[in-house]
Amino acid sequence: AFLARLEALEPMLHAFLTRTPEAALAEAEEVDRRRARGQELHPLAGIPIALKDNLCTRGVPTTAGSRILEGFRPPYHATVVERIAGAGLPVAGKTNLDEFAMGSSTENSAFGPTRNPWDLERVPGGSSGGSAAAVAAGQVPWALGSDTGGSIRQPAAYCGVVGLKPTYGRVSRFGLIAFASSLDQIGPITRDVTDAALLLELLAGKDPLDATSVGEPVPEYARELRPEARGLRIGLPVQYFGEGIARDVRERVRRAAERLASEGARVKEVSLPSVEHALACYYVIAPAEASSNLARYDGVRYGYRARPGGRPPRDVTEMFLRTRGEGFGAEVKRRIMLGTYALSAGYYDAYYLKAQKVRTLIRQAFDRAFQEVDVLVTPTTPTPAFRLGEKTDDPVEMYLNDICTVTINLAGLPAISLPCGRDGQGLPVGLQVIGRPFDETGLLQAAYAFE
Ligand code: GLN
Repeated sequence: AFLARLEALEPMLHAFLTRTPEAALAEAEEVDRRRARGQELHPLAGIPIALKDNLCTRGVPTTAGSRILEGFRPPYHATVVERIAGAGLPVAGKTNLDEFAMGSSTENSAFGPTRNPWDLERVPGGSSGGSAAAVAAGQVPWALGSDTGGSIRQPAAYCGVVGLKPTYGRVSRFGLIAFASSLDQIGPITRDVTDAALLLELLAGKDPLDATSVGEPVPEYARELRPEARGLRIGLPVQYFGEGIARDVRERVRRAAERLASEGARVKEVSLPSVEHALACYYVIAPAEASSNLARYDGVRYGYRARPGGRPPRDVTEMFLRTRGEGFGAEVKRRIMLGTYALSAGYYDAYYLKAQKVRTLIRQAFDRAFQEVDVLVTPTTPTPAFRLGEKTDDPVEMYLNDICTVTINLAGLPAISLPCGRDGQGLPVGLQVIGRPFDETGLLQAAYAFE
């Protein structure tokens, strides 16, 4: 049923870059066979899932939305893919994204944008726009995204679904095509909080192949959910309810918090000084790390290599230059240039090092806030989904979209976006809950109370 719906809606949405219906059906049949034989099955076996196309899948094309990886078939699975395969979840395909996960709308995909299922003239958000659109449209019940500065939560908000970014280190990044390694995390996109909890259980935990993954025990997140707001201490950071956030969006989120207050939660305003610098800080650190991570795409090791158009390249340097010139899109080039500049001798202290110091101040502001409250609640995005093409000419306009989400990656915290009603035009509004490091249990519990 899911595969039929996927195929029927795909011409409208373009949520997928690669579809793998045969493999998915074979897996589903294998699960059926095992069940019939009375063999033991993982509790999640048989639930179809889609994977963002920056997750390596053995033998299956993995492009990261870029021409430069055209034709690349990884020889191995990402650790999260290994776990999904091990549990018997049929993989329906690989979803569209902004090139190398750089963007907020999927319009930076080299293979054309995805459309928002609620309004086909609008973007689904990004960079995990394909994953969020596929779940919202019922092409698959579950998907994986990655989140460097909001790429799970922002598209979840725009598409009216649930998106969870775990604490940095909670989920292995092995096999995730790196954008900004100190910010990237993989996480679930689902229709509700319980599903997010179930899927996180499968993904989380220490991985010897990722030295930044952490060995904290993984609780049974879903089993611990209670529809209970009593005693929950919620902070509303004033910085995220002011100018620049659409009134409709602010009002929805405030009203949701008031409802929980009426059910026994304690809601108060808090202040997070220094978060006003988060966007500037992120757009130094993320491009700096990206410029280093993307140095490996040289036409030698994988994917695209510039072919002699007329005359062969003079030497290997020219081959590198032409491969990168033709293989990368405009936004990726912009970030490589910004990042290379910020890291270069003489500028490193002024930009990268300074941004790292600001990052520490941001983390400290959160640590202080969490002495008084259990979770923080903000809008996920300043506005609901915008129109295709509306912001493509103005990168700074596009970056401003990330104002509520990038802060969380800088601080390494877990956060979830969940649907919070509709705006005046009927578009989904997202509410973001932010938790203490490695307290996904508390985070999911609070989100469940909001749901
Ligand atoms: N939109 C942000 C950016 O362009 C975040 C992307 C992401 O989380 N991968 O960097």
